[in-house]
Amino acid sequence: MTWEAVIGIETHVELRTDSKMFCGCPTGFGAEPNTNICPVCLGLPGALPVPNETAIRWTIALGLALGSTITPHSVFHRKNYFYADLPKNYQISQFDLPLCAGGHLEIDPGTGVRRVGITRVHLEEDTGKSTHLGGGGRIHDSDATLLDFNRSGIPLMEVVSEPDISTPDEARAYAHELREVVLAMGISDARLEEGSMRFDANVSLRRIGTSALGTKVEVKNMNSLRSLQRALAYEIERQTRLLDSGAAITQETRHWDEEAGITHPGRSKEESSDYRYFAEPDLVPIVTTQETIATLRRDLPELPAARRARYVELGLEAAAARTLVAGPLGTLFEATLAAGAAPRRVANWLTGEIAAYLNRTGGDAGSLAIDATGLAQLVGMIETGKLSSTAAKEVLEGMLAGEGTPEQVAAARDLLQVSDEAEIAALVAAVLASHPDEVARVGAGEEKLVGFLVGQVMRAGQGKADPKVVDRLVRLQTHT
Ligand SMILES: [Zn+2]
Repeated sequence: MTWEAVIGIETHVELRTDSKMFCGCPTGFGAEPNTNICPVCLGLPGALPVPNETAIRWTIALGLALGSTITPHSVFHRKNYFYADLPKNYQISQFDLPLCAGGHLEIDPGTGVRRVGITRVHLEEDTGKSTHLGGGGRIHDSDATLLDFNRSGIPLMEVVSEPDISTPDEARAYAHELREVVLAMGISDARLEEGSMRFDANVSLRRIGTSALGTKVEVKNMNSLRSLQRALAYEIERQTRLLDSGAAITQETRHWDEEAGITHPGRSKEESSDYRYFAEPDLVPIVTTQETIATLRRDLPELPAARRARYVELGLEAAAARTLVAGPLGTLFEATLAAGAAPRRVANWLTGEIAAYLNRTGGDAGSLAIDATGLAQLVGMIETGKLSSTAAKEVLEGMLAGEGTPEQVAAARDLLQVSDEAEIAALVAAVLASHPDEVARVGAGEEKLVGFLVGQVMRAGQGKADPKVVDRLVRLQTHT
């Protein structure tokens, strides 16, 4: 191991506002091409932008969630470049006065919690979508390109990390955690496969023990957390081989090819001066007051890290807390707690039997025939001894099959446990009366026969007597 990787990640997040960043066009995904368009997002001459206040507030809120400093006078800049999906020939973006600067995100790649610094969070507009026909689906070998401007002008938030990441696992943990935060805030649907959240990674290598940064390569086109991890592992290995052979790294953009499992060289990487940034003359600076900041801070939801910590405080294992916060069953867990159920038991059912059921059936949480009230009742019935844990599994099965409330399922399937002391005492007395020899031997100190007698009572009660009560009463009545 001579080299260590230095990785920074740029994350683009499409905000799920109703309208676009600088016009009133709707933002829905999947509409007929070129139907959600107007003179502003087509860049027609004379059209003027009007900023989307919600997008600005959400971007500032994300900055607050990441501990950023909010810029009091933030400015939109024009980033000038020519491409067919950018009809104005410039993108309205931000340059030296982004909405949010600094901050950090805590990640847990499985080797302990660590901090990744945030450089900035800024707001810009998305471009249109190009579809290259023929060839390999890339522009240089295609016969024709189709353009859809529905995406043009959708608010796009960019979160830039510091180059604090050194392994593909850490990169994945960072991307995962940032996605969790965005989802908890409800500001994007953050669908990786639809491109509403996209990651680009800057990767360079340096000799272990040195601090100077090597030549960096930007890797693009990673459509899942797994492909981010794979692409980085590949790129680190590629650069290691080059450096080991004495070759130099070319500063460039490379595209991840998911099927081939390699990165291809793209265009050579521009310097920011190539974009001739200048302040957007059609927009005034965005002034954020301390009052706005205070309101946005107050309205922040509970963030995933805080929620996981709260679950651990409620007695959950760290792994269960992670699963519930990141997975589809967190809402049901919260609702079941609100219905008064014991946290640890509910978590066990959700991350065990119920998660397994969803895996098996391929359904989602919304399709479950079980709700918070039912699950709380089920857990309550175990706690009060009305159901053994084995019987509870069968009751749950019935509930998931839509057979009714736990009471109804338990009654219909004859699974209720008898915990009534008087009823069990009568059963115990009858069994002891028919086993006088064993009772006498227990009296003489043969403790292991207690288990035998308990078994006899359980059998006499057809397995429905509460074993804890049976055990206590057998001991009581044989030790007089
Ligand atoms: Zn428009």
